[in-house]
Amino acid sequence: MTQSHDTRIDGQCLCGSVHVHLTDHRPEIGLCHCTMCRRWSGGIYAMFTAPATAVKITGEVKVYRSSAFAQRAFCPTCGSGIWLRDDGSEEYEFCAGLFEAARDFAAISENYIDQRLTALTIQGDHKRVTAAEYEEKFPFVASDETPD
Ligand SMILES: [Zn+2]
Ligand SMILES: [Zn+2]
Repeated sequence: MTQSHDTRIDGQCLCGSVHVHLTDHRPEIGLCHCTMCRRWSGGIYAMFTAPATAVKITGEVKVYRSSAFAQRAFCPTCGSGIWLRDDGSEEYEFCAGLFEAARDFAAISENYIDQRLTALTIQGDHKRVTAAEYEEKFPFVASDETPD
Protein backbone atom coordinates (compact mmCIF):
# COMPACT_ATOMS: atom_id res chain seq x y z
CA MET A 1 0.00 0.00 0.00
CA THR A 2 1.33 3.39 -0.93
CA GLN A 3 0.45 6.26 1.32
CA SER A 4 -1.72 8.83 -0.41
CA HIS A 5 -1.19 12.54 -0.02
CA ASP A 6 -3.24 13.81 2.90
CA THR A 7 -5.53 16.49 1.54
CA ARG A 8 -7.30 17.18 4.85
CA ILE A 9 -5.81 20.09 6.69
CA ASP A 10 -6.95 22.51 9.38
CA GLY A 11 -6.24 26.12 10.11
CA GLN A 12 -7.29 28.76 12.59
CA CYS A 13 -7.12 32.50 13.22
CA LEU A 14 -4.95 34.12 15.88
CA CYS A 15 -7.61 34.05 18.62
CA GLY A 16 -8.96 30.60 17.68
CA SER A 17 -12.57 31.73 17.09
CA VAL A 18 -12.44 30.81 13.41
CA HIS A 19 -11.53 27.29 12.34
CA VAL A 20 -11.08 26.25 8.74
CA HIS A 21 -11.29 22.58 7.80
CA LEU A 22 -10.37 21.61 4.25
CA THR A 23 -11.01 18.19 2.74
CA ASP A 24 -9.00 19.15 -0.34
CA HIS A 25 -6.51 21.85 -1.30
CA ARG A 26 -3.65 22.70 -3.64
CA PRO A 27 -0.37 22.60 -1.70
CA GLU A 28 1.43 25.49 -3.39
CA ILE A 29 1.78 29.12 -2.39
CA GLY A 30 0.99 32.21 -4.44
CA LEU A 31 2.43 35.50 -3.17
CA CYS A 32 1.17 39.03 -3.82
CA HIS A 33 2.78 42.40 -3.07
CA CYS A 34 0.03 44.64 -4.53
CA THR A 35 -1.11 47.70 -2.57
CA MET A 36 -4.29 46.04 -1.35
CA CYS A 37 -2.54 42.85 -0.27
CA ARG A 38 0.23 44.81 1.44
CA ARG A 39 -2.32 46.77 3.46
CA TRP A 40 -4.45 43.74 4.20
CA SER A 41 -1.62 41.48 5.31
CA GLY A 42 0.76 44.04 6.74
CA GLY A 43 3.50 42.87 4.38
CA ILE A 44 2.92 40.12 1.87
CA TYR A 45 -0.16 38.08 1.07
CA ALA A 46 0.69 34.36 0.96
CA MET A 47 -2.14 32.10 -0.17
CA PHE A 48 -3.08 28.68 -1.47
CA THR A 49 -6.34 27.57 -3.04
CA ALA A 50 -9.03 25.05 -2.12
CA PRO A 51 -12.21 24.13 -4.01
CA ALA A 52 -15.33 25.69 -2.46
CA THR A 53 -16.86 22.23 -2.06
CA ALA A 54 -13.96 21.22 0.24
CA VAL A 55 -14.29 24.15 2.66
CA LYS A 56 -15.84 24.04 6.12
CA ILE A 57 -15.66 27.12 8.33
CA THR A 58 -16.72 27.33 11.96
CA GLY A 59 -16.91 30.59 13.85
CA GLU A 60 -18.04 34.03 12.75
CA VAL A 61 -16.20 35.76 9.90
CA LYS A 62 -16.73 39.23 8.48
CA VAL A 63 -16.48 39.84 4.79
CA TYR A 64 -15.07 43.02 3.29
CA ARG A 65 -15.73 43.85 -0.35
CA SER A 66 -12.20 44.93 -1.23
CA SER A 67 -12.92 45.38 -4.92
CA ALA A 68 -15.74 45.12 -7.45
CA PHE A 69 -14.91 41.50 -8.18
CA ALA A 70 -13.61 40.10 -4.89
CA GLN A 71 -14.17 39.87 -1.15
CA ARG A 72 -11.77 39.33 1.74
CA ALA A 73 -12.86 37.64 4.96
CA PHE A 74 -11.40 38.18 8.42
CA CYS A 75 -12.02 37.27 12.04
CA PRO A 76 -13.99 40.10 13.71
CA THR A 77 -12.31 39.40 17.06
CA CYS A 78 -8.60 39.24 16.25
CA GLY A 79 -8.56 40.62 12.71
CA SER A 80 -6.69 37.70 11.11
CA GLY A 81 -7.28 37.48 7.38
CA ILE A 82 -9.00 34.22 6.45
CA TRP A 83 -9.64 34.17 2.71
CA LEU A 84 -9.93 36.13 -0.50
CA ARG A 85 -12.49 35.02 -3.06
CA ASP A 86 -13.35 36.32 -6.50
CA ASP A 87 -17.11 36.59 -7.08
CA GLY A 88 -18.50 33.39 -8.55
CA SER A 89 -15.20 31.56 -8.19
CA GLU A 90 -15.28 27.84 -7.55
CA GLU A 91 -12.35 28.15 -5.18
CA TYR A 92 -11.16 30.11 -2.17
CA GLU A 93 -7.72 31.61 -1.68
CA PHE A 94 -6.77 30.98 1.94
CA CYS A 95 -4.25 32.95 3.98
CA ALA A 96 -1.48 30.36 4.21
CA GLY A 97 -0.33 31.40 7.68
CA LEU A 98 -3.48 29.98 9.29
CA PHE A 99 -2.41 26.43 8.43
CA GLU A 100 0.55 24.62 10.00
CA ALA A 101 0.62 22.29 6.97
CA ALA A 102 1.24 25.25 4.67
CA ARG A 103 4.70 25.76 6.17
CA ASP A 104 5.90 23.01 3.80
CA PHE A 105 4.25 24.34 0.63
CA ALA A 106 6.58 25.70 -2.04
CA ALA A 107 6.05 29.11 -3.66
CA ILE A 108 4.89 28.93 -7.28
CA SER A 109 4.33 32.58 -8.14
CA GLU A 110 4.98 36.08 -6.89
CA ASN A 111 2.83 38.91 -8.24
CA TYR A 112 3.39 42.69 -8.18
CA ILE A 113 7.07 42.05 -7.57
CA ASP A 114 7.85 45.71 -8.33
CA GLN A 115 5.54 46.91 -5.54
CA ARG A 116 7.03 44.81 -2.76
CA LEU A 117 8.49 46.01 0.50
CA THR A 118 12.20 46.12 -0.29
CA ALA A 119 12.84 44.12 2.87
CA LEU A 120 10.79 41.22 1.51
CA THR A 121 12.93 39.35 -0.99
CA ILE A 122 11.68 35.82 -1.48
CA GLN A 123 14.17 33.16 -2.51
CA GLY A 124 13.56 30.46 -5.12
CA ASP A 125 13.05 30.17 -8.85
CA HIS A 126 9.25 30.57 -8.90
CA LYS A 127 7.52 32.80 -11.46
CA ARG A 128 7.78 36.55 -10.80
CA VAL A 129 5.33 39.01 -12.35
CA THR A 130 5.33 42.82 -12.31
CA ALA A 131 2.22 44.97 -11.86
CA ALA A 132 2.21 45.85 -15.58
CA GLU A 133 2.55 42.22 -16.63
CA TYR A 134 -0.18 41.11 -14.25
CA GLU A 135 -2.63 43.82 -15.29
CA GLU A 136 -2.00 43.11 -18.96
CA LYS A 137 -3.14 39.55 -18.30
CA PHE A 138 -6.03 40.55 -16.00
CA PRO A 139 -7.14 44.03 -17.21
CA PHE A 140 -10.11 44.22 -14.81
CA VAL A 141 -7.75 44.39 -11.84
CA ALA A 142 -5.96 47.65 -12.69
CA SER A 143 -9.03 49.89 -12.85
CA ASP A 144 -10.15 48.57 -9.53
CA GLU A 145 -7.24 49.57 -7.30
CA THR A 146 -8.18 51.28 -4.07
CA PRO A 147 -7.24 54.95 -4.49
CA ASP A 148 -4.25 56.07 -2.46
ZN1 LIG B 1 -9.71 35.36 15.56
ZN1 LIG C 1 -2.62 41.45 -4.22
